[in-house]
Amino acid sequence: MAAASGCTLHRRLGRSECLMSFSDRNMKPPLIDAFGRVHTSLRLGVTDRCNIRCFYCMPAEKVVFRPRSELLTFEEIERFVAVAATMGINKLRITGGEPLVRSELPKLVQRLAQVPGIEELALTTNGILLADQAADLKAAGLRRINVSLDTLDEEVFRQVSRRSGLKRVLDGIFSAKRAGFEKIRLNAIAIRGLSENEIVPLAEFAREHDFELRFIEYMPLDADGAWKQEEVLTGEAMLRILEKAICPLEPAGRNDSSQPAVDYRFVDGRGVIGFICSVSEPFCGNCNRLRLTAEGQVRNCLFSTAEWDARAVLRGPGNDDNLRQLLRDCVWAKRPAHGIGETEFQPPARPMYQIGG
Ligand code: SAM
Ligand code: SF4
Repeated sequence: MAAASGCTLHRRLGRSECLMSFSDRNMKPPLIDAFGRVHTSLRLGVTDRCNIRCFYCMPAEKVVFRPRSELLTFEEIERFVAVAATMGINKLRITGGEPLVRSELPKLVQRLAQVPGIEELALTTNGILLADQAADLKAAGLRRINVSLDTLDEEVFRQVSRRSGLKRVLDGIFSAKRAGFEKIRLNAIAIRGLSENEIVPLAEFAREHDFELRFIEYMPLDADGAWKQEEVLTGEAMLRILEKAICPLEPAGRNDSSQPAVDYRFVDGRGVIGFICSVSEPFCGNCNRLRLTAEGQVRNCLFSTAEWDARAVLRGPGNDDNLRQLLRDCVWAKRPAHGIGETEFQPPARPMYQIGG
């Protein structure tokens, strides 16, 4: 798949001249890659720890977590974000591991909400600890919450997460609603042979309570290397299941072309469902995302096999210009597409919980 070719100036002049022309005009130099994709979105892993063990993300046992001293401090994360914001990053999503197990997370939210240039601040959580923290997160300035919820059945929840806790997740979702989060989004992964039967109840639940719902295709990011293409329930297959059981869906259009989801509206007017078809219909051509792992490595793709060591700069003698150069280098090295399904595809060495999903 060819990547989008966004910056005409950049293609005609080459990277350094293009970036100079932005500084001449006193504009923020965009984080632009070799295919013209401008990067405005940053995912922040704040921990690799988690209180459950989803089979598509973590190993079942003997998980080795990073020592606390290796994780970036709140001050280091804030500095990195402030520098990235001078280069056009305006959207942040806090993730992990499970971000709510990082102690005093609302304090980080409060710091990040005040960084000049940051317009959107969101969090992705498994919801287990959300009931305790929703009000504090809202007060700290968090704007949006996504809760991962693959099933409404306790037994299936146990099979997926290798732990119990569905009731706590549901309590967390409704606590977030009571705390004033307006658009709560539920993210579900559907796995062929395991959770086809969960799709319709999840859609009915989202319709009843006015939650947004997105189905994400299962990607080869599990810790055990057990992913199989046959287990990917595609967006198209899910759409057919929903239409048969509920009512027809029609395309809902998108405001933002970098959004990975394709949205559909139920024709009875009750609810919108998004599909993130990362495997069956990759959207790499519009990708605008970077990731910072909990221990300070910058990645230009979920499937990247290289990382750029921001922690070494943050903890060494390097200055903010060194961080800016690191970000430029990382973005410039981005490949056109992830290549899942191609013969030479290599899954990344690190599973999802270490990357920051
Ligand atoms: N612990 C939090 C949670 O589960 O929401 C945040 C981190 S989790 C890694 C972020 C998202 O990645 C979740 O929505 C999860 O379902 C998704 N995810 C994890 N492994 C995945 C995989 N192999 N394929 C697709 N999505 C995956
Ligand atoms: Fe934990 Fe989220 Fe990974 Fe599940 S998907 S194991 S909740 S980090």
